[in-house]
Amino acid sequence: MPLKYFLFLHDSHGFLQGARGFAGEIGHIPWHGSQNASWGKCFCGRYDCLETYLSPETVLKFAAHELGIVQPGLPELYAAATPYQMQKIYEYLISFIKFACVVAANIFDPEMLILGGKVIEPWIKRFEKELLPELRRTTWHNSPKKLKCYSMQNCSSAYGSALKAAAEAVTAIVGSYTE
Ligand SMILES: [Zn+2]
Repeated sequence: MPLKYFLFLHDSHGFLQGARGFAGEIGHIPWHGSQNASWGKCFCGRYDCLETYLSPETVLKFAAHELGIVQPGLPELYAAATPYQMQKIYEYLISFIKFACVVAANIFDPEMLILGGKVIEPWIKRFEKELLPELRRTTWHNSPKKLKCYSMQNCSSAYGSALKAAAEAVTAIVGSYTE
């Protein structure tokens, strides 16, 4: 039977609208509600947005400050990190990703949650295996039934372009919004 209710989370922007076009911005929920400047500022101008912790720049900062490994980009970091360092990065990421997924699952009650983005690419299979039971234990009435993690390399180019266009459109709206 085809899925009727699924939720797509990417380290970019969503497709819900809301009154001003900003609905579903789970990435801008403040982590612990504080205004902590330690990991830098979100593009929206606030500190401590969930997506700030999950951005490639912050993963690079985490690796530099906490693990002593300095690299210019994520591919270089993931190639150079030892298994121990990769485990620490995974542990760092999963706490934030789990929180985002629990919020999303409790709000939208999807049958399947689809998760992607370059920060999680080295652990796609592991996230599918370890995150799903964690989510089902934590969410309201054990949602979702399925979790699918995807790699950008496995997306069609049309799909990738649509994601990029949506991100650019929302960024333009946020940039022009002055009220
Ligand atoms: Zn933000």
